[in-house]
Amino acid sequence: MVGWFAGFTRDVALHADELSALDGAIGDADHGTNLNRGCREALRTLHAEPPRTVGDFGRTVGMQLLAHVGGASGVLYGSFFLDFGASAPGAQGLTPRGFAAAWHAGVAAVVARGRAEVGDKTMLDVLAPVRDALDTAAWHTVDLGGMLKAALDAAEQGLEATVPLVARKGRASYIGPRSAGHQDPGARSSWLLVRAATTTLAG
Ligand code: ADP
Ligand code: MG
Ligand code: MG
Repeated sequence: MVGWFAGFTRDVALHADELSALDGAIGDADHGTNLNRGCREALRTLHAEPPRTVGDFGRTVGMQLLAHVGGASGVLYGSFFLDFGASAPGAQGLTPRGFAAAWHAGVAAVVARGRAEVGDKTMLDVLAPVRDALDTAAWHTVDLGGMLKAALDAAEQGLEATVPLVARKGRASYIGPRSAGHQDPGARSSWLLVRAATTTLAG
Protein backbone atom coordinates (compact mmCIF):
# COMPACT_ATOMS: atom_id res chain seq x y z
CA MET A 1 0.00 0.00 0.00
CA VAL A 2 2.79 2.41 0.89
CA GLY A 3 4.57 1.46 -2.35
CA TRP A 4 1.38 2.20 -4.26
CA PHE A 5 1.08 5.62 -2.69
CA ALA A 6 4.78 6.30 -3.26
CA GLY A 7 4.30 5.46 -6.94
CA PHE A 8 1.30 7.76 -7.15
CA THR A 9 3.23 10.57 -5.45
CA ARG A 10 6.10 10.18 -7.91
CA ASP A 11 3.71 10.27 -10.87
CA VAL A 12 1.88 13.31 -9.50
CA ALA A 13 5.22 15.10 -9.15
CA LEU A 14 6.19 14.16 -12.72
CA HIS A 15 2.80 15.26 -14.07
CA ALA A 16 2.11 18.23 -11.78
CA ASP A 17 2.56 20.83 -14.52
CA GLU A 18 0.34 18.88 -16.87
CA LEU A 19 -2.39 18.49 -14.22
CA SER A 20 -2.29 22.22 -13.46
CA ALA A 21 -2.37 23.05 -17.18
CA LEU A 22 -5.51 20.92 -17.61
CA ASP A 23 -6.99 22.76 -14.62
CA GLY A 24 -5.92 26.06 -16.20
CA ALA A 25 -8.14 25.37 -19.21
CA ILE A 26 -11.32 24.83 -17.19
CA GLY A 27 -10.53 25.87 -13.61
CA ASP A 28 -7.92 27.74 -11.58
CA ALA A 29 -4.71 25.98 -12.65
CA ASP A 30 -3.79 24.59 -9.23
CA HIS A 31 -4.66 20.88 -9.35
CA GLY A 32 -1.09 19.68 -9.92
CA THR A 33 0.48 21.92 -7.28
CA ASN A 34 -2.31 21.14 -4.80
CA LEU A 35 -2.01 17.39 -5.17
CA ASN A 36 1.79 17.39 -5.36
CA ARG A 37 2.03 19.27 -2.06
CA GLY A 38 -0.46 16.98 -0.31
CA CYS A 39 1.00 13.72 -1.63
CA ARG A 40 4.51 14.72 -0.53
CA GLU A 41 3.27 15.42 2.99
CA ALA A 42 1.30 12.18 3.10
CA LEU A 43 4.26 10.12 1.87
CA ARG A 44 6.58 11.83 4.33
CA THR A 45 4.21 10.90 7.16
CA LEU A 46 3.89 7.31 5.90
CA HIS A 47 7.67 6.99 6.07
CA ALA A 48 7.95 8.72 9.47
CA GLU A 49 5.14 6.69 11.03
CA PRO A 50 4.84 3.45 9.05
CA PRO A 51 1.22 2.24 9.11
CA ARG A 52 0.59 -1.12 10.77
CA THR A 53 -2.85 -1.67 9.30
CA VAL A 54 -4.91 -0.72 6.26
CA GLY A 55 -6.85 1.56 8.58
CA ASP A 56 -3.65 3.35 9.64
CA PHE A 57 -2.63 3.72 6.01
CA GLY A 58 -5.97 5.26 4.98
CA ARG A 59 -6.09 7.52 8.04
CA THR A 60 -2.57 8.86 7.52
CA VAL A 61 -3.00 9.49 3.81
CA GLY A 62 -6.54 10.83 4.17
CA MET A 63 -5.71 13.23 7.00
CA GLN A 64 -2.59 14.56 5.27
CA LEU A 65 -4.43 15.09 1.98
CA LEU A 66 -7.28 16.85 3.80
CA ALA A 67 -4.77 19.09 5.58
CA HIS A 68 -2.41 19.88 2.71
CA VAL A 69 -4.05 19.57 -0.72
CA GLY A 70 -6.74 22.22 -0.32
CA GLY A 71 -9.45 22.86 -2.88
CA ALA A 72 -12.15 20.46 -3.88
CA SER A 73 -9.81 17.60 -4.63
CA GLY A 74 -8.22 17.69 -1.15
CA VAL A 75 -11.51 16.96 0.56
CA LEU A 76 -12.46 14.37 -2.04
CA TYR A 77 -9.18 12.43 -2.17
CA GLY A 78 -8.86 12.79 1.61
CA SER A 79 -12.29 11.24 2.09
CA PHE A 80 -11.48 8.54 -0.47
CA PHE A 81 -8.45 7.34 1.50
CA LEU A 82 -10.08 7.68 4.94
CA ASP A 83 -12.94 5.40 3.91
CA PHE A 84 -10.69 3.15 1.82
CA GLY A 85 -8.78 2.37 5.01
CA ALA A 86 -11.85 2.24 7.24
CA SER A 87 -13.23 -0.61 5.09
CA ALA A 88 -10.65 -2.96 6.64
CA PRO A 89 -9.36 -1.08 9.69
CA GLY A 90 -7.49 -3.86 11.48
CA ALA A 91 -6.25 -5.74 8.41
CA GLN A 92 -2.52 -5.92 7.76
CA GLY A 93 -3.05 -6.04 4.02
CA LEU A 94 -5.79 -6.48 1.45
CA THR A 95 -6.78 -9.48 -0.60
CA PRO A 96 -7.71 -8.64 -4.21
CA ARG A 97 -11.40 -8.73 -3.23
CA GLY A 98 -10.60 -6.64 -0.18
CA PHE A 99 -8.99 -4.10 -2.50
CA ALA A 100 -12.17 -3.98 -4.58
CA ALA A 101 -14.26 -3.51 -1.43
CA ALA A 102 -11.95 -0.77 -0.15
CA TRP A 103 -12.18 1.01 -3.52
CA HIS A 104 -15.98 0.79 -3.22
CA ALA A 105 -15.87 2.46 0.18
CA GLY A 106 -13.55 5.18 -1.11
CA VAL A 107 -15.79 5.97 -4.07
CA ALA A 108 -18.85 6.09 -1.80
CA ALA A 109 -17.07 8.71 0.30
CA VAL A 110 -16.31 10.82 -2.79
CA VAL A 111 -19.98 10.64 -3.80
CA ALA A 112 -21.15 11.49 -0.28
CA ARG A 113 -18.89 14.56 -0.18
CA GLY A 114 -19.12 15.81 -3.75
CA ARG A 115 -22.60 14.67 -4.83
CA ALA A 116 -21.33 14.15 -8.37
CA GLU A 117 -22.59 11.51 -10.75
CA VAL A 118 -20.81 9.77 -13.59
CA GLY A 119 -20.95 12.13 -16.58
CA ASP A 120 -20.48 15.31 -14.51
CA LYS A 121 -16.85 15.57 -15.75
CA THR A 122 -15.06 14.89 -12.47
CA MET A 123 -12.68 12.37 -10.92
CA LEU A 124 -15.75 10.19 -10.41
CA ASP A 125 -15.75 9.50 -14.17
CA VAL A 126 -12.62 7.44 -13.52
CA LEU A 127 -13.14 6.28 -9.94
CA ALA A 128 -16.64 4.82 -10.49
CA PRO A 129 -15.93 2.79 -13.67
CA VAL A 130 -12.83 1.44 -11.92
CA ARG A 131 -15.00 0.37 -8.99
CA ASP A 132 -17.32 -1.46 -11.38
CA ALA A 133 -14.44 -3.05 -13.27
CA LEU A 134 -12.85 -4.27 -10.03
CA ASP A 135 -16.18 -5.74 -8.94
CA THR A 136 -16.74 -7.53 -12.23
CA ALA A 137 -13.18 -8.78 -12.42
CA ALA A 138 -13.39 -10.07 -8.85
CA TRP A 139 -16.10 -12.49 -9.99
CA HIS A 140 -13.79 -14.03 -12.57
CA THR A 141 -10.40 -13.95 -10.96
CA VAL A 142 -8.68 -13.60 -7.63
CA ASP A 143 -5.54 -12.41 -9.36
CA LEU A 144 -4.92 -8.79 -8.48
CA GLY A 145 -2.89 -8.24 -11.65
CA GLY A 146 -5.85 -9.28 -13.80
CA MET A 147 -8.24 -7.16 -11.78
CA LEU A 148 -6.02 -4.10 -12.05
CA LYS A 149 -5.58 -4.54 -15.78
CA ALA A 150 -9.37 -4.39 -16.17
CA ALA A 151 -9.41 -1.40 -13.83
CA LEU A 152 -6.81 0.47 -15.88
CA ASP A 153 -8.78 -0.12 -19.09
CA ALA A 154 -11.87 1.29 -17.39
CA ALA A 155 -9.88 4.24 -16.05
CA GLU A 156 -8.57 5.08 -19.54
CA GLN A 157 -12.03 4.95 -21.06
CA GLY A 158 -13.49 7.05 -18.25
CA LEU A 159 -10.70 9.60 -18.59
CA GLU A 160 -11.13 9.97 -22.36
CA ALA A 161 -14.89 10.22 -21.92
CA THR A 162 -14.49 13.39 -19.84
CA VAL A 163 -13.14 15.35 -22.85
CA PRO A 164 -16.43 16.16 -24.62
CA LEU A 165 -18.45 16.51 -21.41
CA VAL A 166 -19.77 19.79 -20.02
CA ALA A 167 -18.83 20.05 -16.34
CA ARG A 168 -21.71 19.97 -13.89
CA LYS A 169 -19.71 19.96 -10.65
CA GLY A 170 -16.78 21.90 -9.24
CA ARG A 171 -15.13 25.04 -10.58
CA ALA A 172 -15.24 23.86 -14.20
CA SER A 173 -19.05 24.03 -14.05
CA TYR A 174 -18.76 27.84 -13.72
CA ILE A 175 -17.72 28.11 -17.37
CA GLY A 176 -20.54 25.85 -18.54
CA PRO A 177 -20.35 24.72 -22.19
CA ARG A 178 -16.82 26.12 -22.57
CA SER A 179 -15.60 23.25 -20.36
CA ALA A 180 -16.28 20.84 -23.24
CA GLY A 181 -13.25 19.80 -25.27
CA HIS A 182 -10.90 19.54 -22.29
CA GLN A 183 -9.91 16.55 -20.19
CA ASP A 184 -10.87 16.85 -16.53
CA PRO A 185 -7.77 17.31 -14.33
CA GLY A 186 -9.18 15.32 -11.40
CA ALA A 187 -10.08 12.44 -13.71
CA ARG A 188 -6.49 12.49 -14.96
CA SER A 189 -5.03 12.34 -11.44
CA SER A 190 -7.41 9.47 -10.61
CA TRP A 191 -6.15 7.66 -13.69
CA LEU A 192 -2.60 8.15 -12.32
CA LEU A 193 -3.75 6.58 -9.04
CA VAL A 194 -5.02 3.51 -10.87
CA ARG A 195 -1.95 3.30 -13.06
CA ALA A 196 0.29 3.44 -9.98
CA ALA A 197 -1.68 0.50 -8.56
CA THR A 198 -1.02 -1.58 -11.69
CA THR A 199 2.70 -0.91 -11.54
CA THR A 200 3.18 -1.34 -7.78
CA LEU A 201 0.58 -3.83 -6.53
CA ALA A 202 0.28 -6.35 -9.34
CA GLY A 203 3.66 -7.95 -8.61
P1 ADP B 1 -10.29 23.36 -7.00
O1 ADP B 1 -11.31 23.17 -8.10
O2 ADP B 1 -10.91 23.69 -5.69
O3 ADP B 1 -9.18 24.27 -7.41
P2 ADP B 1 -8.60 21.11 -7.69
O4 ADP B 1 -8.19 21.93 -8.85
O5 ADP B 1 -7.50 20.56 -6.84
O6 ADP B 1 -9.63 21.90 -6.77
O7 ADP B 1 -9.45 19.85 -8.19
C1 ADP B 1 -10.36 19.95 -9.25
C2 ADP B 1 -10.93 18.59 -9.57
O8 ADP B 1 -11.76 18.15 -8.50
C3 ADP B 1 -11.83 18.56 -10.77
O9 ADP B 1 -11.08 18.38 -11.95
C4 ADP B 1 -12.77 17.41 -10.50
O10 ADP B 1 -12.26 16.18 -11.01
C5 ADP B 1 -12.78 17.32 -9.01
N1 ADP B 1 -14.05 17.74 -8.44
C6 ADP B 1 -14.47 19.00 -8.23
N2 ADP B 1 -15.71 19.01 -7.67
C7 ADP B 1 -16.07 17.70 -7.55
C8 ADP B 1 -17.23 17.01 -7.04
N3 ADP B 1 -18.27 17.67 -6.53
N4 ADP B 1 -17.23 15.65 -7.06
C9 ADP B 1 -16.18 14.97 -7.57
N5 ADP B 1 -15.06 15.55 -8.05
C10 ADP B 1 -15.03 16.89 -8.05
MG1 MG C 1 -8.18 23.89 -9.26
MG1 MG D 1 -8.26 25.87 -6.38
